[in-house]
Amino acid sequence: MAIIVHKYGGTSVGTPDKIKNVALRVKKARDAGNEVVVVVSAMGHTTDELIDLMHKVTHNPDPREYDMLVSTGEQVSAALLAMALQESGCPAVSLTGGQAGVVTEDIYRKARIKEIKLDRIKKELKSGKVVVITGFQGIDSKGDIITIGRGGSDTSAVAMAAALKADVCDIYTDVDGVYTTDPRIVPTARKLKYISYEEMLELASLGAQVLHPRSVECASIYNMVIHLRSSQKDDEGTYIMSAAQIVKEAGKMEKQEAVRGIALDENIAKIGILRVPDKPGTAAKLFGALAGEKVNVDMIVQSIHSQGTQADMAFTVERPDLKKAVEVTERVANELKAEKVVSDADVCKVSLVGIGMVSQPGTASRMFETLAKEKINIQMITTSEIKISCVVKAEQGRKAVQILHEAFGLSKVA
Ligand code: ASP
Ligand code: MG
Repeated sequence: MAIIVHKYGGTSVGTPDKIKNVALRVKKARDAGNEVVVVVSAMGHTTDELIDLMHKVTHNPDPREYDMLVSTGEQVSAALLAMALQESGCPAVSLTGGQAGVVTEDIYRKARIKEIKLDRIKKELKSGKVVVITGFQGIDSKGDIITIGRGGSDTSAVAMAAALKADVCDIYTDVDGVYTTDPRIVPTARKLKYISYEEMLELASLGAQVLHPRSVECASIYNMVIHLRSSQKDDEGTYIMSAAQIVKEAGKMEKQEAVRGIALDENIAKIGILRVPDKPGTAAKLFGALAGEKVNVDMIVQSIHSQGTQADMAFTVERPDLKKAVEVTERVANELKAEKVVSDADVCKVSLVGIGMVSQPGTASRMFETLAKEKINIQMITTSEIKISCVVKAEQGRKAVQILHEAFGLSKVA
């Protein structure tokens, strides 16, 4: 008897009818002779609504009560799914994170999962029931309900699959897989059959909102295969697995592609600080001050002036943080006697991702040539072994993605 773990996201359990549909799918897996554990998110936008409700009472919630409140959404969907299963003749039981043995760190709102004590789940499975578990939550050493960060039920599911030693964690969602790029920008974007953990982590962090980045990190630690697929169709989706496994499954072809995916991040802004005295401690002071204000800095570029005594620095932040970041940068610029601070919210970031880049020189130059041909000016560049990112003018971002998708041959094979 195999153990199967399914996870259903908020949209997939968004209405009573959708919950009944999920029940049918789960029942089918059980009727095929498997032991089935299901992890669910809250229905639709429930978690956002709970937070709105909270803001009507306070803008400064006690973290413990925040977790008490926002964890309730998952309880609703778990109980309803268990009822829908029972209604369809399939024995089922719903469990909260605590009841299911999900033990977290003692940190409200963003804890990590420490361990999963499987006794209760095993007992329920043994008695023939499908076990429906609330995602996004666990219990700490005091017995308090803890949540693990927004979007965290993907991570709950992967951790559960790893603890239960399932072969794969099926994550059902409202998209049918991971695409070479956003199909709304490039209609010929291709669904990938496989993608490696490293590439998926980059794409997830670059704003491809299909998976919680921590779930990918957790999967890579336990070598858990994630099958990301549609809750509306029976088709296969995308398998997220180690590069070694992909080579085994798919052979050489996959390995040779330098670029697997292209991401567009339209939620960034750029800040420049000009003619800063070039001496030790400057960057530490500026980025220390920004970190102190909880501003997340992404790309950082420093260039020197010909005299060598001054430098220009430019960096990007998330667009909603721009105002705060400019204030902090101006304060530090004054202290450091820099010439001036400039900022620009009219930018976006285009990134190519692929582990094949390591072994294939020329990816960066091809990217730059492609952009140059369309007269798209590159304002900033950063690279890593598996990623090249360029900041360009906001209005040129989509065009850039389209021509790069074409240039790297990522479109569907007709
Ligand atoms: N319901 C939670 C949220 O909206 C967790 C999740 O959906 O993954 O953040
Ligand atoms: Mg989610």
